[in-house]
Amino acid sequence: MEKIYDSSPLTTGFTAGVTSCIPSEGGKYSVTLDRTAFFPGGGGQECDTGYIGGARVASVTESGGEIFHLTDTPFDVGTEVKCSVDREKRLSRMASHTGEHIVSALMHRNFGFSNVGFHMGSGDVTADFDGVIDAAQLAAVEAGANAVIRENLPVTVSYPDSETLSAMKYRSKLDLTENVRIVSVGDFDRCACCAPHMPETGMIGMLVFTGFQHWRGGIRVHMLCGADAVSFCRAAVDRSDALCRLLSSKPEKLTDSVIRLTEENAALKRAVSDMNAAVNDAVLSGLSRTGRPLVLRDGRDDMTALRTLAVSAHAINGAPVCVIGGSGRFAVAGEDLKAGFALLSSRIPVRGGGSDTLICGSAEGDIGGVFAEVF
Ligand SMILES: [Zn+2]
Repeated sequence: MEKIYDSSPLTTGFTAGVTSCIPSEGGKYSVTLDRTAFFPGGGGQECDTGYIGGARVASVTESGGEIFHLTDTPFDVGTEVKCSVDREKRLSRMASHTGEHIVSALMHRNFGFSNVGFHMGSGDVTADFDGVIDAAQLAAVEAGANAVIRENLPVTVSYPDSETLSAMKYRSKLDLTENVRIVSVGDFDRCACCAPHMPETGMIGMLVFTGFQHWRGGIRVHMLCGADAVSFCRAAVDRSDALCRLLSSKPEKLTDSVIRLTEENAALKRAVSDMNAAVNDAVLSGLSRTGRPLVLRDGRDDMTALRTLAVSAHAINGAPVCVIGGSGRFAVAGEDLKAGFALLSSRIPVRGGGSDTLICGSAEGDIGGVFAEVF
């Protein structure tokens, strides 16, 4: 059985002969071919999908050196079939995978760290390393990887004999000794890997790190390559443009604009707080102890101001105080409020709650009138 993906990674359309077809679970069929471009998965890269004839290939596995294609219709043994691997998906994965080799080589070369995990999901590719570097160092690795991409180095596959292999320096997650597949990126990097890669680094197009975090004593790097990287950058530019229009800012001044806005917002909040305190002081200066429930009508929506006024007014009044703000908001301060509040809630629709001494919320209807009746 010829593994086309092993030596010809860009071949995604091919013809082959069916060598076996066995019914499988769920009404599916497990089909083997005399040659295949379907990669069964490995090295962090998922298996290919595509079509054999008109039948969908949902997954591909390898067992005992044979490749099994899971299809939704059966085939007669000996039939010649036209096959196609889902090309965009394969190219995207090969770009990401080849990019990962370059990044891992740089991390190893520059910092002595090893790749200890690699995952390609939809829209996110992650590589884990067993040491920590900072954002600036990571940006330098990204620049170095893109320089290797622009060099357009050949990416080749070889199966060195054991003598050659033992004298060879290469990166590997496993301690392999036989039939080791070495993927070389020019003279820049050698790595043991079973997956198909781009035949030239230039075909990766570009590589961008989209984020990183501390991960099990090292770091996890998120990256995108090729068309996925371009889409990510396009979306980032669009977001930046939208923010620039909103803030009347140049892109390079965007961070400064947001810092200024945040500082202005904090200053405004302080000014509002000061004004609310002044208003409360003015209202409180006109109060005296009545010993009877008191309703204060207040136009403000600021619940903190309403609550503060209610508590201070109750201390002066010596009986429950209901402060009614804008938009139906209210704050009631007093003692043993729960029974009275339950009665109030049974008379008009009320949302809110609190403690025995302070209740806040919003109400529909004449809360001042009902408060005066029930307290
Ligand atoms: Zn690889």
